[in-house]
Formats: sequence, C-alpha cells, structure tokens
Amino acid sequence: MRTLIVADVHSNLAAFQAVIDDAVTNGGFDEIWSLGDILGYGPEPSECIELLRSYPHKMVAGNHDLGSVGEVSLRRFNPYAAAANQWTGKQLTREQADYIRALPLTLEIGEFTLAHGSPRDPIWEYLTTAEAAIACFTHVETYWCLVGHSHLPFLCIPRLDSAVFMELPKDRRVQLDDNPLIINPGSVGQPRDRDPRASFAVYDDADNTILHRRVPYDIKTTQEKMRRHNLPDFLIERLAVGH
Ligand code: ZN
Repeated sequence: MRTLIVADVHSNLAAFQAVIDDAVTNGGFDEIWSLGDILGYGPEPSECIELLRSYPHKMVAGNHDLGSVGEVSLRRFNPYAAAANQWTGKQLTREQADYIRALPLTLEIGEFTLAHGSPRDPIWEYLTTAEAAIACFTHVETYWCLVGHSHLPFLCIPRLDSAVFMELPKDRRVQLDDNPLIINPGSVGQPRDRDPRASFAVYDDADNTILHRRVPYDIKTTQEKMRRHNLPDFLIERLAVGH
C-alpha cells in the first residue's frame, strides 16, 4: 500500500492538484494522510477539502483549520493569518465546517503517529528544536512520527541524549526501520524553505520507505485568485519565494 503524505496544503488547490498528479504519475497511491492545515492563507478552502475527501484519507487538525471554524481564537494568529482564517470560515459550508471541527488532534496508524505541530502539543508546537524532538520521542509509542506546521521538510533522529535534524533527501528513498524518527514532509501550499515548489512525501509499505518529492505548480494562478479575494499581499508574495 502506498500513502500520499501531505501537510499544510493551506487552501492552495493548484499546488495540491500538482502533488496528486505527480504521485499518480509515479506509481499512484491508495490513501492520503493529511497532517493538518488544509485551510488558511490560500484562495480555495472548500475545493481543497473536497479534493482530499474524494480519496480515501485520514487527517488531523491544524491550527488554521480550527481557527477558520472558530474552535481556537483568531487572536492567537498574526494579523495576516487571522484575516485569511476569517475569510476562510465564510467560504465553508456548514457540513465542511463540522467535518473540520470533528477532526482528531493526533492519530496512530500502524507504527506512525500523526500530528500537526507535535504529539504533545498537536495544534501549536513547532517541532524544530532538539528539546521538542526529545519530548516527541518520549511521548509517542510508535516508531515513527509525522508532523507539519513549520513548513520545513526534515528528518529528525535521536542521538545520545539529544536529537539531530537533517535535510529530508529529495527523490531518494529513506529506509524506515525500528529506530525512531520524525519526518516533516514540508508544505504543499506555502513552502518556507526558499524552494517555492510544493513539497510532499509518499510512504510505501512494500519496502518500508518514504520518498520526498518537490513539484512545481502554477503559482501565478493561485496568487491571482488570492488577489481577487483581497487576501493579504504578504501572503500572496511569499508563495513566489517560498518563504
Ligand atoms: Zn501551516
């Protein structure tokens, strides 16, 4: 079974579709795991929910998902994110909003734990420090942990009493074994590692590997749609530089 792993789609339909197309072209997938924040920032929130739901899928909630449907206060977001979340909430049907409200904060699937931020603080914690990684390793009961939220693709392994963050190699399979590790597949809809291409991963349980991919998408079309909806310029411009 092959699983398409996406995080931080952020209402960017063109990016999400490009990711799905690339995964289909390169062996296909049976299911999508979404690590949260399918909503926020971008111009097509409803369409992204429906594209996800047109496939077998599992999803955990992210901060922007819950912010958009009033489950967490918009005061906890910066002004750009708050404005986009407020707009996003108005675009959703009641049924879509209920779907988002009912999302779990973490999921255990086989030897994977899925969380948006981190297993100990799924909505808000940025898993970018050794301290947070160590807490993650001690917190989860599975070998492997998948997170999003920072929009930075990485691989993290425990070493002695610390943790080491490494670049998640592109187009080269990472072999999973019974050693713990944390993987962030990067962001589909708003990458922040200065590579504007959509970032994602595919897990193949036949050989127990994870493959990280980057794909270009039509950034200008997404930006044009954001402009039409008067979403903040800062959010529009950052897509082109991937930061
Ligand atoms: Zn995000």
